[in-house]
Amino acid sequence: MRTAIVWFQRDLRLNDNPALYQASQRFEQVIPLYIDAPKEAGLWAPGAASRWWLHHSLAALSDSLSRIGSLLVIRSGDTEAVLRELIGEQGVAAVYWNRRYEPWAEARDQTVTESLSATGIDCRRFHTGLLHRPQDLLNRSGSPYRVFTPFWHRIEAQMFDQPVLPRVRQLNAPAKPVASLPLADVALKPAHAWADSIAAHWRPGQAAAEAVLQRLVDRAADGYADGRDYPALAVTSRLSPHLHFGEISPGQIVYRLQELAAGDASNRQSLIRQLAWRDFAYYLLHHFPKTPEQPMNPRFREFPWRSNTDRFLSRWQRGRTGIPLVDAGMTELWETGWMHNRVRMITASFLTKNLGIHWLHGARWFWDTLVDADLANNTLGWQWVAGCGADAAPYFRIFNPVTQARKFDAEGRYVRRWLPQLAGLPNRYLHSPWEAPSDVLEATGIELGSAYPMPLVDLGQSRKAALAAYDTIRTPA
Ligand SMILES: Cc1cc2nc3c(=O)[nH]c(=O)nc-3n(C[C@H](O)[C@H](O)[C@H](O)COP(=O)(O)OP(=O)(O)OC[C@H]3O[C@@H](n4cnc5c(N)ncnc54)[C@H](O)[C@@H]3O)c2cc1C
Repeated sequence: MRTAIVWFQRDLRLNDNPALYQASQRFEQVIPLYIDAPKEAGLWAPGAASRWWLHHSLAALSDSLSRIGSLLVIRSGDTEAVLRELIGEQGVAAVYWNRRYEPWAEARDQTVTESLSATGIDCRRFHTGLLHRPQDLLNRSGSPYRVFTPFWHRIEAQMFDQPVLPRVRQLNAPAKPVASLPLADVALKPAHAWADSIAAHWRPGQAAAEAVLQRLVDRAADGYADGRDYPALAVTSRLSPHLHFGEISPGQIVYRLQELAAGDASNRQSLIRQLAWRDFAYYLLHHFPKTPEQPMNPRFREFPWRSNTDRFLSRWQRGRTGIPLVDAGMTELWETGWMHNRVRMITASFLTKNLGIHWLHGARWFWDTLVDADLANNTLGWQWVAGCGADAAPYFRIFNPVTQARKFDAEGRYVRRWLPQLAGLPNRYLHSPWEAPSDVLEATGIELGSAYPMPLVDLGQSRKAALAAYDTIRTPA
């Protein structure tokens, strides 16, 4: 009986899973394996929220596999050693897996492939997590794209050419029993009351991901194109953690979005464009692998970031900056493990520009607290906002969180939801309570400085300080 290992990583699904599908077609016995090896990701080992998600997603995968006659094998330790051990125990002929695109994973997988192949193991890696392979696309001068629009024009026409594989419906487990760690033994599930609050907002796993996509298609992604910037409107897909863990593939999403009628074309197109941003983020990570820690624009290596971050950083993390939209966003993040994209931009801008704190501090906090923490998207998002990335917002374009709030949360529904202590303020002062006259504050029972803090910095002065700091690294004209 020929046996293959299917090594699951960020492809925790049975549908449209090329490694699993091909192994199930070619081998009599298949061992689905998950290896817990967080140290191999170095600085970017999964954060607390990701570990929570991963734990539940693995439980869901294990359940799905048990329904098709199989068992998820969980082991921990050095990846190559674990693979070798299992290959020896079970007389395995092949190891199949779907690629990850993070630089550390690509390097590790290359080493594993070379080493196992040298001993006669058939190692096959499949492409599925992205719509396009990062290595396939270069601009006319043979260099990687650094700007989204030409990248988008290059791939736009092929967005619908995504093959989607059928669900694997049966797997034969090996005759000889395979030892596995119980899921609970793998240190994934944070023992933290905070995880309970996150659990109330999400259901990890392939079935849940497909249900989310189904709802999106049923409502024809209604309001997405016009509403995606308004945090109080629940019009974005919330597929990001499902996509990150590969509970659903981008190809499946694009395939289903084709069902949207012509009248919904702008919503469909707008969503597909966001999926292209995700591809672009991975593309940049592949071509510029140092960007998770280093600014893409080298001039920013000299930027005079604030050296003592302690007080400001912890106030930002805890949503106590005194700027309501920023605090609402940071509260949403803490309570749900997710934050709306527009608010991610505003909270990130406030940290890097008004507080002058290095974007990596923000990226690390997001890494630990987001259920969709993703090295490519997080790096792109932070470098974009900080002004040092590819196709970045120019540094001098500094979001004013009050103006942004008045535009994108005019009725104050988002801020009132996450900061109920400010709910009684009239809309006029909700986004800038320090401007409220004392009789308004008294009438609503809000005491600034205790129930809600005074602003940590003056928005106008901190903006000027940010521009002055930027002047120090600008090349002379
Ligand atoms: C500072 C900052 C940090 C971010 N960190 C992350 C992160 O760690 N993980 C993450 O998945 N996204 C990150 N984003 C991008 C974006 O905020 C989220 O992908 C989006 O909010 C997820 O919500 P959704 O699934 O409802 O998105 P939708 O609007 O429904 O979009 C569909 C999918 O497209 C992709 N997408 C959407 N917007 C972007 C974008 N701007 N860049 C790249 N891909 C995008 C996501 O996979 C998303 O699930 C970050 C953005 C910023 C500004």
